[in-house]
Amino acid sequence: MPTKHGAFVFWIFCLPQYTRISRLSPPNLFALEKIHNYINGQLVAAQSGDWLDNYEPATGQVYSLIPDSDASDVQAAVAAAEAAFPAWSSCGVHERYRILHRIADLIEERLEPFAQAESRDSGKAITTARTVDIPRAQANIRFFATAILHFGAESHQMEGQAVNYTLRQPIGVVGCISPWNLPLYLFTWKIAPALATGNCVVAKPSELTPMTAYLLSQICIEAGLPAGVLNILHGLGPKAGQAIVEHPKTKAISFTGGTSTGRILARTAAPMFKKLSLELGGKNPNIIFADCNFEEAVSTTVRSSFANNGQICLCGSRVYIERSIYEKFRDELVRRAKALKTGDPADPTNDLGALVSEQHRAKVMGYLDIAKQEGGILLCRGEIVRPSDELANGYYLSPAIIEGLPNHCRTNQEEIFGPVVTLQPFDTEAEALALANDTEYGLAATLWTQDISRATRMAERLQSGIVWVNCWMLRDLRTPFGGVKSSGVGREGGVEALRFFTEAKNVCVKY
Ligand code: NDP
Repeated sequence: MPTKHGAFVFWIFCLPQYTRISRLSPPNLFALEKIHNYINGQLVAAQSGDWLDNYEPATGQVYSLIPDSDASDVQAAVAAAEAAFPAWSSCGVHERYRILHRIADLIEERLEPFAQAESRDSGKAITTARTVDIPRAQANIRFFATAILHFGAESHQMEGQAVNYTLRQPIGVVGCISPWNLPLYLFTWKIAPALATGNCVVAKPSELTPMTAYLLSQICIEAGLPAGVLNILHGLGPKAGQAIVEHPKTKAISFTGGTSTGRILARTAAPMFKKLSLELGGKNPNIIFADCNFEEAVSTTVRSSFANNGQICLCGSRVYIERSIYEKFRDELVRRAKALKTGDPADPTNDLGALVSEQHRAKVMGYLDIAKQEGGILLCRGEIVRPSDELANGYYLSPAIIEGLPNHCRTNQEEIFGPVVTLQPFDTEAEALALANDTEYGLAATLWTQDISRATRMAERLQSGIVWVNCWMLRDLRTPFGGVKSSGVGREGGVEALRFFTEAKNVCVKY
């Protein structure tokens, strides 16, 4: 490990709780620390020697550099993964369990520095990083480390003739590509089942949020993960990411990101007959019936609208409210949204931090202009926030709530992925269902009603991979996770992920 890099890691692991990483304080000495790729067990720069700027969303300043990896780095990573595969795939599930558990333990021990790094890198509120991102990252690894111990395969008997048994074998070298909104959370959600099933991995986090994947590579070395089993490359999606997908030796690709990027991946991978899991965008409906538990529905809707600045694929961005409670619900939602504090992500009293990038904030604000042109009324305006002089160039945006728009307009059809929701009244269950399904997406839907028959009926008919009734983001890692329509192909989670990362081979034995 290079000296500069080691010093940085020491510093970041020693951060006290509740300390904002001030650019004016001593850590500024490390302001342009270099993140490294993790290839064949080593922390290395890109072969080109080129670096990309990594911005701190809270301040709008560059605070570290990441390797600008290309196809040559991918080639080195795939070669390392290939070489590591025979030993890793045959070492046995208990050994894989042991090492993965150790990695999870180390993340858990370092929850606070990981949370601070995640918050700084992505702009998300520190409380979200502490209570959602990092706990879930370690839980992902622990879950799949354990799940592999219980993973069975089928057997089919042909009475008096033969018995079939199915082997679930690792695929080989697989690619895992994840987005910036829940960086370590989604990164580990992919690599953990891939590794647990005995594959070797070439993975790329988003170039916008590379830091915790880098810290994870440190931990993998410390935990004794054999060289080459996991390789983490940093860099641009169309360059490093595309090279992972194009490489003939990555036999399966697990991708989470935007629908348009998913299309590019599918175009590249399909002619090569790669296994493909795509978790894509959403435009999720949140349906509030008049018989809901009002307090729970409204408080959860504040979360499902604005948690992580609305940058969660599962956020409910279209809120449909039964007409008899429309005004009451709307007014309470607006009142609570206006009370949310947007500001320094490191300050635990803030509810919303900064959006991930200047470009992304401009995109979200562009939709506010579109909403106005479409005739929408902004009940909460979605304004640029400047918390202080030091943070004046950060990418802050307060929540926006819009009403008065028809379902077919762009604001109600396109994924915005920011702190923006629209409200629409409805009169009947059939109308709510039609409005909810009237989109190209189908990731998650939320229903609020005390009528169990209606909830069951609606859940059956909603075109969505996930339906929450009287709750949101309540996750059991054993359940299938994914979307329908343009929200994706395939399912992650539990046994679905273990199946995706293995090839089924049937053996028929005649007796
Ligand atoms: P992108 O699709 O832009 O990027 C996702 C990842 O793919 C990043 O690592 C990116 O790298 C990489 N990438 C970009 N282009 C290519 C390419 N041609 N080949 C291979 N990899 C590529 O998504 P965002 O990062 O902007 O994430 C937000 C999107 O993710 C939203 O649409 C959201 O709905 C979706 N999402 C879906 C979830 C789900 O479970 N369904 C969960 C969370 C988010 P780089 O960042 O360097 O460009």
